[in-house]
Amino acid sequence: MFNKYLEKIKTYEAGKPIELVVREFGIKPENVIKLASNENPLGASPKAVEAIVQNAKKASIYPDDSMYELKEKLAKRFDVKSKEIIIGAGSDQVLEFISHIKLNSNAKILRSAVTFAMYDIYAKQFGAKIIKTPSYEHKVDEFILLIKQEKPDIIYICTPNNPTGDATKKEDVFQIIEAAPKESLVVVDCAYMEYVQDKEYKISPKELLEFENTIYLGTFSKAYGLGGMRVGYGIANEKIMHYLYKVRPPFNITTLSLAAAIAALDDEAFLQETLALNKKEMKRYEAFAKENNIAFQKSFTNFITYFFHLPLQSSQIANNLMKKGIIVRDLSSYNLNAIRITIGLPKQNEKVLQELKKELKG
Ligand SMILES: *Cc1c(COP(=O)(O)O)cnc(C)c1O
Repeated sequence: MFNKYLEKIKTYEAGKPIELVVREFGIKPENVIKLASNENPLGASPKAVEAIVQNAKKASIYPDDSMYELKEKLAKRFDVKSKEIIIGAGSDQVLEFISHIKLNSNAKILRSAVTFAMYDIYAKQFGAKIIKTPSYEHKVDEFILLIKQEKPDIIYICTPNNPTGDATKKEDVFQIIEAAPKESLVVVDCAYMEYVQDKEYKISPKELLEFENTIYLGTFSKAYGLGGMRVGYGIANEKIMHYLYKVRPPFNITTLSLAAAIAALDDEAFLQETLALNKKEMKRYEAFAKENNIAFQKSFTNFITYFFHLPLQSSQIANNLMKKGIIVRDLSSYNLNAIRITIGLPKQNEKVLQELKKELKG
């Protein structure tokens, strides 16, 4: 017998790896354009790469389990206390910790209609019930109504939202948090917050610490270009940390990941270069969508989601692009006739839009 709750879980479908396209379509790896997992097209920060190389011989040594230096650096950056931070193997692992401290088979989570798939996967592992708002945008009224009706144990606010790219205004996030009962934990997943420039939408961990039942999640996987190193973090008050630390396994990120994350935080130039490139290239995708009558929402992230109208089918388009060595994310599994494209390097974007244009013509 296996855990019966697992029967209801559909295994997480990760972005397709380059190797698959190489194997199946005989395309040279260097010609594959992978824009499906919101990785940084500039790669990793050179300082982080240098730190990984420098520390390679420490692979035999367990990392500093207190993660003192990384937490100190994050604390300084966000003007919070070290004690208010927990590090995970990606913010995914912090989501897992959160599920451990809040969920069981009588629990409920509340989330928007279309959002990050891992919230459900963890909820299902515990047999918890999943409540969805009608809209994929985080609408205050919808959230408040369901909070009052259902008293969820975890309320997820993903801003900017993956896979749709839209963001929720700070005042709306605060209103949702204020409506949450003290017994609920509000998780504000800010995996793409570095890309947000607009003050109305920018949320800091410090502001969220004003609320006693809220946790901020951040990651090094997107703007910092360290998806392969698996480092993320949660920031919340010490009471929440007290419980989270009970479920954290020791040495949960590697010696090299730790060194890379510390170095990445010092590489402000790389971060700024990343944001500037993204902003510039995003404009190109917006212009293309307008020219070609493709529906899209203003994206606050490093990806854009194009919504199609039948007879155009996102699965077909994604498949055809893949045969040409371009990997994008089809969103059919989210019940959207849409594809999510990570903003790449100028040359990659040019090629993507060129091939997409052919697909539109049919
Ligand atoms: C990418 C992502 C994460 C987690 O990424 P990690 O690599 O596990 O840090 C969390 N939430 C959202 C919305 C994401 O898009």
